[in-house]
Amino acid sequence: MNEFELIARYFNRPAKRAILGVGDDAALLAPEPIRQLAVSADMLVEGRHFFPDVDPEALGHKALAVNLSDLAAMGAEPSWCTLSLALPCVDEAWLAAFARGFHALADEAGIELVGGDTTRGPLTIAVQVAGTVPAGQALLRSGGTPGDDVWVSGALGAAAAAVAVRNGDAALSGEAMAACLSRLDRPTPRLALGLALRGIASAALDISDGLLADLGHIGERSACGAELDWADIPAHPALAGLPEAVLRQAVLAGGDDYELCFTAPAQHRSRLQALSQTLALPLSRIGRLVGGQGVRVFNAGERITPSRAGFDHFAT
Ligand code: ADP
Ligand code: MG
Repeated sequence: MNEFELIARYFNRPAKRAILGVGDDAALLAPEPIRQLAVSADMLVEGRHFFPDVDPEALGHKALAVNLSDLAAMGAEPSWCTLSLALPCVDEAWLAAFARGFHALADEAGIELVGGDTTRGPLTIAVQVAGTVPAGQALLRSGGTPGDDVWVSGALGAAAAAVAVRNGDAALSGEAMAACLSRLDRPTPRLALGLALRGIASAALDISDGLLADLGHIGERSACGAELDWADIPAHPALAGLPEAVLRQAVLAGGDDYELCFTAPAQHRSRLQALSQTLALPLSRIGRLVGGQGVRVFNAGERITPSRAGFDHFAT
């Protein structure tokens, strides 16, 4: 199978929204007027972002999911994406499973694959996504104000706990580990939440590097600090058996959660509680933005800190 047969078999599907999709030198796209394009890219590198033995179908899902999560965090509706692959060899079983996972999530999210690149090399997956948002309505990191509530969706720490167990740094029961692995391998981009937060959230982002580090970005962009209450931060239930220090590390500083962290004025509390019901997605109010800078977490009035604040590829 050559490069072009590979693309045709696994990645060329008829264009729906695009004017011209896969197959020419470039795709042709026509965004609706009065909307802005939200564009984002995320790359997954074997050994860095995923274990070499990961299920290729889950990897196809995750490669797109982590990108859709960025659109969710902007309050954007998914439209188009590109997929660039470096593959060490042509492994048809691997490709078929990867493509299945990718296309299943693409169909569910309503995003269309319109191009990419395919080359030989160490396994690397680079996805770029584009979505649209009515002009001026995107959720930015910069809109928070002291006094706003800080909220988080879902539950935190499961993906990081799975990595800690895989690395031999923690132990979990088989059942708890399976729950954590499914969060690590198949994160859920919170797209419906992101759309619903337009007009409610003052600032938002998705948690990819850890709650404290990511909320810190809202703080920097919004020129605020934040205070969180440990008791209100939703740890994933599968983490219950972990030692307290490991659990805190996973919840506060573990990466790969892909939940949304956002701020909103207190007047929106009841709307957000109702939204949580509608979406069947827990939304937890975990603290507040304050004047000054930095994110502080308190447990019964006492300050707690994880040993490492968040994931940084170039940390020394
Ligand atoms: P060019 O040489 O003009 O850059 P390519 O030969 O790399 O084009 O790709 C041919 C077509 O297939 C292009 O439309 C490109 O966007 C698309 N394509 C290549 N790889 C992928 C992929 N992994 N997924 C989706 N489309 C792809
Ligand atoms: Mg060309």
